[in-house]
Amino acid sequence: MRAYAVVRSRKRRTLCLQISPSGTLRVLVPAATRETDVWAFVKAKTPWIERTLERLSRAPKPPPFADGLILRHLDESLVLRLTYHAAAPSVRRDGDELHVTAATEEAARAGVERWYREAARHHALARIIHFAPLVGRAPKRIRIAGQKTRWGSCSARGTISLNWRLMMVPAGLCDYVIAHELCHLIAAHHKPSFWRELARVMPDYETRRLTLHGMGAQLSL
Ligand SMILES: [Zn+2]
Repeated sequence: MRAYAVVRSRKRRTLCLQISPSGTLRVLVPAATRETDVWAFVKAKTPWIERTLERLSRAPKPPPFADGLILRHLDESLVLRLTYHAAAPSVRRDGDELHVTAATEEAARAGVERWYREAARHHALARIIHFAPLVGRAPKRIRIAGQKTRWGSCSARGTISLNWRLMMVPAGLCDYVIAHELCHLIAAHHKPSFWRELARVMPDYETRRLTLHGMGAQLSL
């Protein structure tokens, strides 16, 4: 049997198995679950685990971070122009090229992320200004985040957090997330009344929601 990590939680009621895109196994279990029960659970899931790992190993690998890489930016594509140079990192857009100069790959990646975060801040603000009057609510604060597991969230205090990676999906899908989170300022749940509010602002939200889910296997709302 494959190795797995056990994560215990007092809030959890059922056992749940997760496989990360890199193939790591995690079992989420209620706090008091016995080790033997966890083991039996994982053992019973073995066929599913093997099928999933097999599928993951066949999934296309992301292209290397190198000069010429195509970076998606809303409805546009940018070509990464990467130069290694022992100077302060810089990122500059020139037409449909993103010129990045940095000493190491790590610094270059960080520079690109910073650039995307800045772009996300501007874009999110413009789209919130567009959608807030339609929804009839405005957030208290906008936060650009880098959550691994979600595109956006809305706190009880009225802070809307948006994932900077939204800059890498088509603008219409980014709009869906922004309208979705704004509607949470009216309804902090996913009951039918929430979806009615969203349909009022964005009648085709369901198509966008499904497309977005298809795009980010590891990210979901
Ligand atoms: Zn939601």
